[in-house]
Amino acid sequence: MTIPYGRHQIDRADLDAVVDVLENQFLTQGQQVPRFEQALKEYCGAAHTVAVNSGTSALHIACLALGLGPDDWLWTSPNSFVASANCGLYCGARVDFVDIDVKTGNLCLNALAEKLLQAARSNRLPKVMVVVHFAGLSCDMQAIQRLTEPYGIKLIEDASHALGGTYRDKPVGSCVYSDACVLSFHPVKSITTAEGGAVLTNAPEIARQLRQFASHGITRDPDHMEGESDGPWYYQQVTLGYNYRLSDLHAALGLSQLSRLNAFIESRSERAQRYTEALAGLSLRLPGTSSQAKSAWHLYSIGVEESLRSQIFASLQGKGIGANVHYIPIHLQPYYRRMGFKPGDFPNAETFYRQAITLPLFPGLTADEQTRVIQAVKESLN
Ligand SMILES: *Cc1c(COP(=O)(O)O)cnc(C)c1O
Repeated sequence: MTIPYGRHQIDRADLDAVVDVLENQFLTQGQQVPRFEQALKEYCGAAHTVAVNSGTSALHIACLALGLGPDDWLWTSPNSFVASANCGLYCGARVDFVDIDVKTGNLCLNALAEKLLQAARSNRLPKVMVVVHFAGLSCDMQAIQRLTEPYGIKLIEDASHALGGTYRDKPVGSCVYSDACVLSFHPVKSITTAEGGAVLTNAPEIARQLRQFASHGITRDPDHMEGESDGPWYYQQVTLGYNYRLSDLHAALGLSQLSRLNAFIESRSERAQRYTEALAGLSLRLPGTSSQAKSAWHLYSIGVEESLRSQIFASLQGKGIGANVHYIPIHLQPYYRRMGFKPGDFPNAETFYRQAITLPLFPGLTADEQTRVIQAVKESLN
């Protein structure tokens, strides 16, 4: 059987939590979502959390709540899933990218500093930057904030890979150096709700807007209505929002999963460490590390000689190893090329892609399975 590159882990407690909601509680708009939000913000150390139905929805409402609109620019990393950039387009903004550091796959601080200077000269500074923590390793948020703050740029962390990781001894999601932080609960991520996501923030006004955008642009708070409230039943739609709410079924699963998050991350890091020991000394690039950050080890992404990548990938697949590749640079997607992006625009992200192979890494990966992966990698390099 093929060993997948990522897989969720569901236990009896998860099943019971979901069944309990089905048998006894509200399916949506009950108590599970607020409980999940409370637990998430306690774990991450942020003041507010809004849970939604996907990480993509979370990115969208985070951009809206930070005021991104037509004529604005959003910058992000080309080495990410397309959702990190699409959220800007949803708001009618224009999107541009900042190249990465090949060692980590994370945004390159020098490239950012350089691009900010150019953008300041040409009046094309971004309103929002989506900072992607590739493979679960936090970017240097303090340095990024120092560079962007003088220009008033708002920062959204795309921590879809990084829930359970830390940066400067605080959990990712604490939003110490950002305006908002986005999580995804897709099955391959740190914890799952099947589909789901969340936005964390320390700013009450951003939190209020997030909630409003996630539920049709409706408010039930008389303080935020135009004119007087008609009575206790009354609500007003004050802006154009969406139905991005998470259901109680999904939130119950998330709450149950969250109680095992630390164990999941420990399993991931043990397996990552075993890879690193077993693959050291071979002719490949091991995942980047940081003295300031503990990775959540979403992906174990290695880099091999460009000319051998396809061959190595095929050899792994042939041995039942569900290797993957992260990421096809977003600017090279046909939809983005039609906006004028082309090969050579972000050379480090392109090099990273041409060398990249993601090895299977998830909490339930057994020692035997991992031995098979390690053997297969060694054979494929010979
Ligand atoms: C998974 C992911 C998303 C989108 O999350 P969904 O929950 O699938 O919508 C966004 N950004 C990154 C980097 C991701 O890995």
